[in-house]
Amino acid sequence: MAHRQLGDLQIMRALEMLFTFDADAMFPDVTREQWAPYLDWITPQGYDPETHKLIMPVQSYIVRTPHHTILVDACAGNHKNRPGRPYWHMKSDNTYLKALANNGLCVEDIDFVMCTHLHSDHVGWNTRLQDGRWVPTFPNARYVFTENELVAWRDIGNEKFPRNPIEDSVLPIVEAGRADLVKNDFALDDHVWLEPTPGHTPDHVAIHFNSGNARAVMCGDLIHTPVQCAHPEWEAWPDWDSKRGCATRRAFLDRYCDTDTLICPAHFPLPSSGRIVSWNDAYRFEVDDQRC
Ligand SMILES: [Zn+2]
Repeated sequence: MAHRQLGDLQIMRALEMLFTFDADAMFPDVTREQWAPYLDWITPQGYDPETHKLIMPVQSYIVRTPHHTILVDACAGNHKNRPGRPYWHMKSDNTYLKALANNGLCVEDIDFVMCTHLHSDHVGWNTRLQDGRWVPTFPNARYVFTENELVAWRDIGNEKFPRNPIEDSVLPIVEAGRADLVKNDFALDDHVWLEPTPGHTPDHVAIHFNSGNARAVMCGDLIHTPVQCAHPEWEAWPDWDSKRGCATRRAFLDRYCDTDTLICPAHFPLPSSGRIVSWNDAYRFEVDDQRC
């Protein structure tokens, strides 16, 4: 698999799967007429016109900095009990580990696992099942979570946001002594730091990487589709606090618009990464021509 070289940073991806999500269910307040002008922004990789379904990747970005190999967001995982999420319920396949191997990586190579937030499709491979117990998948890694995100989810448990992902993919990491619980403006070193981007979840963060003038940001689920660049006010169903999510999204798009910063959202249509450019009174997503 090709590596994207950005200054001294090497950016890779490990794709676990593509899944579909009904566009009306993901954006309940948005009509088909409102979608219509933008369908060529997402078709064919990100939208099926026959079914009006969004096609979304579940993927990790892996970044090699001059000092560390860092995995951002750990996808859905295997053997996880996710009754409300058929795509990642009790899954058992080697796709993800093979995708790492295709990048020349094995689980021992990862120095840090960093999660933008603690939803099930971002924490799953934090752990794997071994002899009936959840153990860290990446044996040499420290795992970086924000403390407030963990505290918030530890107390939440309902049909929409079940506790299972915390119990099988986050707390075992904490109990194994492998978690670094940090503030949402934490900096790992000169190359890696967090930016608070709350809304999708209580303490969602964007994870920044830089090397000289080269910049990339892994922005998780603060935005779900390139069409939200034109309409940052579109509220996505999975958002925890959708009003706050909208404000965060608009500010984020404004901050990085017409800059060289490579934007790497979790679920944009493949190849997912690109840049924000101004467009009419809003923004547009320009796909990265060097793709990783
Ligand atoms: Zn997600």
